[in-house]
Amino acid sequence: MSLETLPPLREVIATHGLAARKSLGQNFLLDLNLTGKIARQAGDLSGHDVLEIGPGPGGLTRALLAEGARKVVAIEADPRCLPALAEIGEAAPERLTVLSGDALKLDPLAHLQSPIKVVANLPYNVGTELLVRWLTPSTWPPFWDSLTLMFQKEVAERIVAQPGSKAYGRLAVLSQFRSDPHICFELSPQAFSPPPKVTSAVVHIKALSAPRFNAEPKLLSEVVARAFNQRRKMLRASLKGIVPEVQPVLESVGIDPQRRAETVSLEEFCRLSEAIREARA
Ligand code: SAM
Repeated sequence: MSLETLPPLREVIATHGLAARKSLGQNFLLDLNLTGKIARQAGDLSGHDVLEIGPGPGGLTRALLAEGARKVVAIEADPRCLPALAEIGEAAPERLTVLSGDALKLDPLAHLQSPIKVVANLPYNVGTELLVRWLTPSTWPPFWDSLTLMFQKEVAERIVAQPGSKAYGRLAVLSQFRSDPHICFELSPQAFSPPPKVTSAVVHIKALSAPRFNAEPKLLSEVVARAFNQRRKMLRASLKGIVPEVQPVLESVGIDPQRRAETVSLEEFCRLSEAIREARA
């Protein structure tokens, strides 16, 4: 069997008894035109290995292979999906490796070769945690060239948010520090089976070759987490204790200690993080 002659996804789900489980964030995409559109947001896949998290019955997996990925490595937590994925593997010999288990615990890198793109309709329960891990390695560039990911629309908006907006926070700073994110398109709940409660959106995040501004990533992450943890408070209060005297450090980089985190730009957060590093040294 070839990729084109695999049975429709509804039939695959019925044959393998893949009734969706809420606990695993299972909202499946059954329209292969749509999975093809998502795969194409990742750009030219030929010559790239692709890491997919949560292939489920394999709608997006098929599209990634059909769009020319050199190899797809897919991590799936639900063992019920493995026979359906094995059929896709037979239709694309040597091009699909399925790792059975929790994407938060498995390290797929031994199975992947550069250049690597990550493409996934992420399970909502682990999506943000995986994104933060991919954005915060200690060395840059990361293992991936780009991330093309489906999120709840509200999370997508937090990734691309600019200062001054309600959505602006830690995810925006971490996503924009060393990468370039944009929202590709939105999907209504009816695109999924079963339909989730909220609208979704596909986000494309391209890794930059170097950070936009100088900062130590772990410390930047700590500063931003603290600042937004109490986003209604002034910085002099939310950052109290990050160094013995935070007010003069804020002033030394030209940030009024009475400002709130949501008004502080990425560049200012990087400057502040560097000043905190120096104050701690
Ligand atoms: N990619 C499929 C699609 O687009 O139709 C399924 C997407 S569904 C939103 C999320 C998938 O992630 C499910 O197949 C679920 O079993 C799987 N999953 C949930 N938690 C996981 C985890 N911790 N590690 C790996 N896969 C997980």
